[in-house]
Amino acid sequence: MSKNPAHTKESRPGATSWLCRDDFDRERMLDMEERVRPVRQRALAILAVALIAAGPWLGWWPALFLIPAALCFATADLLMPRVARPELLMFGAWIGSGLVIGGAVALSGGPSQPTLSWLAIPVITLSSRFPMRGVVVGVIVNIVILLAVAFGVDAHQIIHDPVLVIAPVALLLCVAVLSTPLMRSDIQHRSDAVIDQLTGMLNRKALSTRVAELTQQSQLTGESIGIIVGDLDHFKAINDTRGHSVGDVVLKEVAYKLRKQLRAFDLAYRLGGEEFLILLPGSDLEQSAQLAERLREAVAGNDVAGGVDITMSFGVGASHNGEPFDYAEVFKMADAALYRAKRSGRDRVCLSEAETATPAVGVPVFA
Ligand code: GH3
Ligand code: MG
Ligand code: MG
Repeated sequence: MSKNPAHTKESRPGATSWLCRDDFDRERMLDMEERVRPVRQRALAILAVALIAAGPWLGWWPALFLIPAALCFATADLLMPRVARPELLMFGAWIGSGLVIGGAVALSGGPSQPTLSWLAIPVITLSSRFPMRGVVVGVIVNIVILLAVAFGVDAHQIIHDPVLVIAPVALLLCVAVLSTPLMRSDIQHRSDAVIDQLTGMLNRKALSTRVAELTQQSQLTGESIGIIVGDLDHFKAINDTRGHSVGDVVLKEVAYKLRKQLRAFDLAYRLGGEEFLILLPGSDLEQSAQLAERLREAVAGNDVAGGVDITMSFGVGASHNGEPFDYAEVFKMADAALYRAKRSGRDRVCLSEAETATPAVGVPVFA
């Protein structure tokens, strides 16, 4: 079938990076970004008040540095939904904030300023967003900035009084060492709550959170959002003839095959049993249908669980461009389409509105 640009270059297997090894790393990072955003604004406000209060002694213009720091993150937030590897953008913004702090300290007196220790502040958020390697790289980057500022501005002063760098470096390391295990345990608890233990896919709880976010987002952007619901055909027969444990292996392997076809921002959920749902931000009905057909092709065959023959049926729905996303409505349409796919023979894709969609060549549509 013809290739849809929305699902080719950025498809998920190629969208991993050294900061996100899989879609769950990325999902966690995006989730944490949502939580960090308002808190970051409060932290910037505190620093602004501190810089204004310190103005008579420090000078007024260091406060201006808060503007590029805020802009770094605002730009990253804006661009993140459009790129395949949003974590790199966020990491870039994070490094940008360290450079801004370093620049402000360098220009306002260098190592003698207690504000040098503020380079420890961004470190607090590192472990909540990135895996250990991101934390290590981030800590090294900020220590390098700290030393560059200290030695670059006044190397003599540091040689005379090394405590000026020893103390802030120790603070920075302590923040990293203390915050990392605490964040990890929180992330683990939250992952357990939103991930289906059998397939490793996101569960219904994660779906309702994401739906709320997408609904809000669609009111601003008006971009269409696609929903694909898929259900394994005659799965009960597999359980009955091969046993429940083979059925479990089939579910795991099907989940993997589905996820392999997706982009970074397409999210796959196990609704329960042998039913799956894919959320496709930015995809219209036709694009969603083309992906559903690729999913159908990827799943169909006898190469799972040591030779079990399987097929899967799909129903597709999408909100219209420019209209707010109404999850309940789009899901109802996709589910009705899935029902039609089952009724009309299984192993096929049906669309919610066949008359408005132009199915790609080879897409079996019975709507
Ligand atoms: P259809 O083509 O109409 O979808 O038929 P089906 O047999 O796939 O659907 P049905 O709803 O009749 O059966 C679904 C089966 O899925 C029944 C249930 O025992 C099984 N199932 C649900 N959850 C799990 C699970 O976690 N592991 C296994 N192995 N089976 C499960
Ligand atoms: Mg089924
Ligand atoms: Mg079912």
